[in-house]
Amino acid sequence: MIGSVRVGVRTRQWAGLCLGVFTCITAHTASAADCPGHPDAIGTSRTLVVDPREHPRIGTMQYPETLPLEDHEVVLTFDDGPLPHNSNQILDILASECVKATFFEIGRMAQVYPEGVRKLRDAGHSIGTHTQNHPLSMDRMPIDRARQEIDDGIASVKAALGDDTALAPFYRNPGLLRAGDVEDYLASQGIQTWSADFLADDWRHVSPSRVFDLAIKRLEEKGRGILLLHDIQMRTVAALPSILHELKARGYRIVHVVPATSGQPATPTEPQQWQLHPPSETVAISHWPKIPNFVFTGADTLPAPALSDFDWRDGQLMTLVEPLDRARRLARGVPLPREAPWPRQSPLPLDNAASVLPVPAESIFEIQEKRHAATRPIAPSSHHAEQTVPSERETDGVARLISADARDSRRMIPRSPPITEPGLRHVLRHLI
Ligand SMILES: [Zn+2]
Repeated sequence: MIGSVRVGVRTRQWAGLCLGVFTCITAHTASAADCPGHPDAIGTSRTLVVDPREHPRIGTMQYPETLPLEDHEVVLTFDDGPLPHNSNQILDILASECVKATFFEIGRMAQVYPEGVRKLRDAGHSIGTHTQNHPLSMDRMPIDRARQEIDDGIASVKAALGDDTALAPFYRNPGLLRAGDVEDYLASQGIQTWSADFLADDWRHVSPSRVFDLAIKRLEEKGRGILLLHDIQMRTVAALPSILHELKARGYRIVHVVPATSGQPATPTEPQQWQLHPPSETVAISHWPKIPNFVFTGADTLPAPALSDFDWRDGQLMTLVEPLDRARRLARGVPLPREAPWPRQSPLPLDNAASVLPVPAESIFEIQEKRHAATRPIAPSSHHAEQTVPSERETDGVARLISADARDSRRMIPRSPPITEPGLRHVLRHLI
C-alpha cells in the first residue's frame, strides 16, 4: 500500500505557517565565532528557513529556482548515507568546523544503520530523504511505485529517528532523475525536491584532490549555490577539510537550510532571490540539460558500498587506513603517502543484503572540464551503455544481493557468488 498519509512529513504543519515571506522573521544566525575550540573554523553563517510549499523544486541544474543565497553563500548537501565508517568522519569534520549541512538519506541504509540517522539529528543537521532503495529509474517508474519509493524512504528514516518532527520535508531523486508526476506528488505532500547547483564528481573514480578542485572551480564559476556531495565516499572524507578550508580562505560562507515550522517561519525573501544569476558561457553546468532518459547498465541494483574505506589517487588505488588524519594532512597541503595497492584485506565485513543500491549509469553527469566550454551533452546510446556495463566478473560478484526493485526489473541479474572487491569498486565509482 502506498499510504501517503502514513508517511506524510507533517505536511500540514508547514502549510500556511508563514503568512507571507515578507512578514516572517529571519532565523537565528551563527558564525565561526560560535565554534568553541576552533577559532579558525568556517562555521555556519546563518540559517535559512524555507517553506517547501512556496518553492517546491530547487537547484539550477534542473529547475529555474534555487535557494535564495547571497553571493558567496554555500549550502552543503550529502547523499546516500548513512554509512558509519565514512559518514561518521564527515560528521566529525563538519563538527570541527561548526558547519551544518543537509543529508539525503536512503531508507534501506537508515534501516541498517539507524544510529547514523540519529547522529545527524543530534548534531543539528537537516535530514531529508533519497528514496527507499535508490532506484535509478525514478524518471520512468510507474508513479505508484515511485510514490512507494518516496514514502517508504520517509518511513524508514522516520523509524530510525523515532521522532516524527526531526525529518525535514526535503527530498532528492537518486541520480537526479526527475519526472513531472513524481515532482507533482512530492509537491502535493509539501515536500521540497532538491536538485543541486553544482557537483564535485565525488561518486566517480577520481582522487580527493580532483573532488576538491571541482568543488572550488564550479563554485567560483557560480559564486553561490548548493553543492552535492556524498558522505559515503572516502574521497569525500579526504577532500572535505580542504574544501572547507578553501571556502573560508576565499570568503565563502556556509548556510544551513531548515524547513519552516509553526515555531519557525520562513526567512523573508524576494521572488528574484530564488533565481540564480543568469548563466554564463564560462559556467560548465549552466548548460546542464534536463536529465534525459538515460540508458542504464545491465544490472539495476548493486549493494551499497559498505566497505568504502579505500580511495584512488591519480588513477592508482590506495588505501586510507587513517583517512581523517590524512585528510587533515591533505588540508595542510601535504601530499598523502601512497600505500598498499589494491587488493587488500578490508577490516570491515560486508554488510548484509539489505544494503542494496541500484547501479547508476556511467554516463550520468559527464562534465567536460574545459574552461569556457559547456557541459558535454548527455546522449547515451545503447552502444555507449554497453561500453559502461561492469565486467561480467564484477556483476557476478554483486548480483547475489537482491533489491526490492527487482520485481519489475527485466534486467535484474541473477544470483551469483559473493561480491568481489572489484565489483564494489565499480559501485563506488558510479554511485550518486
Ligand atoms: Zn544518491
